[in-house]
Amino acid sequence: MEKVIFLKYGELSTKKDNRNFFIKKLNENILSILKDAKIEYDFGRMFIYPSSDNYDEVIEKLQNIFGIHEIVVAYKFPDRDLDSIKKNILTLIKDKEFKTFKVEVKRSDKKYPVDGITLRKDLGAFILKNKENIKVDVNNPEALVNVEIRLNEVLIYMDTIKGLGGYPVGTQGKGLLMLSGGIDSPVAGYLAIKRGIKLEAIYFESPPHTSENALNKVKSLAKILTKYNGELKLHIINFTEIQEEIYKNMPHEYLITIMRRMMYRIGAIIASRRNAKVLINGESIGQVASQTLTSMYVVNEVVRMPVIRPLCCFDKLEIIALSKQIGAYETSILPYEDCCTIFVPDHPVINPELDKAQEYERKIDYEEMIYKAIKNEKVLTIKGEEEEFSDIL
Ligand code: ATP
Ligand code: MG
Repeated sequence: MEKVIFLKYGELSTKKDNRNFFIKKLNENILSILKDAKIEYDFGRMFIYPSSDNYDEVIEKLQNIFGIHEIVVAYKFPDRDLDSIKKNILTLIKDKEFKTFKVEVKRSDKKYPVDGITLRKDLGAFILKNKENIKVDVNNPEALVNVEIRLNEVLIYMDTIKGLGGYPVGTQGKGLLMLSGGIDSPVAGYLAIKRGIKLEAIYFESPPHTSENALNKVKSLAKILTKYNGELKLHIINFTEIQEEIYKNMPHEYLITIMRRMMYRIGAIIASRRNAKVLINGESIGQVASQTLTSMYVVNEVVRMPVIRPLCCFDKLEIIALSKQIGAYETSILPYEDCCTIFVPDHPVINPELDKAQEYERKIDYEEMIYKAIKNEKVLTIKGEEEEFSDIL
């Protein structure tokens, strides 16, 4: 028996017309991670033949790729007669512990001489006879013994490993993530990637009010996102002048409202330049004064581009759980300041008024400053571990 890995696409398979496009992208994304793997298609299954024998490592990598619903490690053999199938099933179930089971048969070769019901019964009876203390349970079995009869071979397997689901990265075009050093924005980015959006990120820094450490933290978070996104471009905008001017000239209760209007304006310009269709951020309704519905309304007013807020209806505890799950939490809670915390007023307005925000910001020549900040942007290309490795080679 030969050990093989194949994938189940899940949600992808409902996309009838776009199916090939999705699968092609998935294929590309897998090859960018598993560099020398061979990928073959057969009867709607994607088979992965990795160049390495280290299946655990290969599976771990596949588990970080969006668009894969399930990863199956199966055994394949060419002899399709019942006796051979039985003999191989015996090897498959030998070391497995289970009390109840069910046999699942798929006849991809419709001309196979034995029908599905007979196969199921016959193989079920055979397993019962050959393993002690087990029963059949068709409704809620602990173990599924899967048998797939194909044209020139048979596949058998028991274990399926959950993939991340979602859509292959890049199938929905590009988005620009507003990435701060906090807990929320990396999680928001992860969820956007999950829906197939390829990310670039933007970070606003305010040196000397924000430190090199704060920037390094953002870079580390961007690096964590490359695990799911592949290479990620990080746009770094110097926000010091804008922030200081706002601080000097505006009523302090409106500082954050106006600062965020500036971030959105700059974000939208960078996004359209990079051909990104949406802005993405980590806002969550009601979390802080600048994230009330009224605040969002007043801030959002400066851009026409859609702003996606994947966390808008999440509780903080749910966000923290996801942050831990994606491996970002430990980095996110490092203590370095982001640019907002330094300029945070004691009493930020909870329900800002649009007229007032517009009136206050007219006191400064923000367009000129925005232009300058964008002209001076720094762009870093954060590479994933795979890409770095291939650079060294
Ligand atoms: P986070 O935990 O992601 O820092 P937060 O709860 O601290 O979020 P805010 O500081 O109000 O909330 O920011 C809301 C969102 O605005 C962030 O999730 C992020 O998307 C964006 N943002 C805030 N500060 C910056 C920054 N310095 N650079 C880029 N984006 C930022
Ligand atoms: Mg923050």
